[in-house]
Amino acid sequence: MFDALIRHIRKQYKTDDFIPLHSPTFTETDRRYVLDAIDSTFVSSVGQYVDRFERDLAAYTGAAQAVATVNGTAALQAALSVVGVKNGDEVITQPLTFVATANAVSHLCAHPVFVDVDQDTMGLSPGALEQWLAANAQLQHDPDGTIRAYNVNTNRRIAAILPMHTFGHPCRIKHIVDIAGKWDLPVVEDAAEALGSFAGSTHCGLFGDLGIVSFNGNKTITCGGGGAILSKDANLASRAKHLTTTAKVPHPWEFDHDAIGYNFRMPNLNAALACAQLERLPDILREKRQTAQQYKAFFAQTPWANFVEEPTGTWSNYWLCAIALKDPALRNDLLEHTNQAGVMTRPVWKLMPELDIYQDCQCGPIQNAVWLRERVVNLPSGVRSGE
Ligand SMILES: *Cc1c(COP(=O)(O)O)cnc(C)c1O
Repeated sequence: MFDALIRHIRKQYKTDDFIPLHSPTFTETDRRYVLDAIDSTFVSSVGQYVDRFERDLAAYTGAAQAVATVNGTAALQAALSVVGVKNGDEVITQPLTFVATANAVSHLCAHPVFVDVDQDTMGLSPGALEQWLAANAQLQHDPDGTIRAYNVNTNRRIAAILPMHTFGHPCRIKHIVDIAGKWDLPVVEDAAEALGSFAGSTHCGLFGDLGIVSFNGNKTITCGGGGAILSKDANLASRAKHLTTTAKVPHPWEFDHDAIGYNFRMPNLNAALACAQLERLPDILREKRQTAQQYKAFFAQTPWANFVEEPTGTWSNYWLCAIALKDPALRNDLLEHTNQAGVMTRPVWKLMPELDIYQDCQCGPIQNAVWLRERVVNLPSGVRSGE
């Protein structure tokens, strides 16, 4: 029953060898830039490639400023800190995500709260968010007089909303930002998977106060390990830059630091690779979207699963192509059959409240996340060019 799919994938990837879910590809330019960084001796925390990558990434995404970081998780932690998330606060995020989203909240000693996703976007549901806030949140005066959202059950301050753009498909981010505005809550977008994805004509990560992307080895482009904070607000971005670079006050020789900052800066060696990969991003996206089109055509003829398409009004990078099985009972059969045949497929993540580490967190009704968890499988989605 799954043999036709395996044949389709082998035909696309033109190989009888093992086909990974998503592996990086490199070109001569990648090698040249990395060697140039080594030859310059600037491999670490300062160097021209970091500055260039931040400029190039801002230009590509349309951000006022981009801040390169050691990885996406660190970017997320710093971004949450910049918008004011503190020890004991709550941050609303989604149960269907990679664990790093919730971990970034926990690293700040804040509490993640899990609110359901939409079935079609797989990202945070504005409807569920609105309902959860109406049922659990109240605006109260802070000791300093500002009005803020509090959770009436826990008496904790709700400090931010953290939606994630699942597999590169933009969530209903405009609607989420509107709801956040009514409650005066900042929005940090986990766009780790969404480099090259747009909702309307705006790049993911630029709707909220701050957004982050990742350049881990399995992402759309990679620099080994890396991330970036994006913002349309130059002031917030420069605060992120300051905090991720030890909060050093600029001075020709003095070491003065005006906050307990992080050493989250992307090394120049990685930034060299990031610059080279970013140059190839349009080609990579073209190829990924072609792969998606071919899966879409295949599943149009296939009775047992639906291909997950980019939501209406969005342009997805199709980081990981996904299908939703019509019968969840087929899931393990499909996973076993394909992986046995050397074609790598993976189920979606365990939901955050299903992990022991997050089982005690507050969690709204999450039937859509459960529905997706039982049915969604990712298919090989990497590019072939450039090897
Ligand atoms: C990859 C990823 C991250 C973390 O990025 P790293 O660079 O690996 O730290 C965060 N959130 C999501 C949803 C991711 O997929």
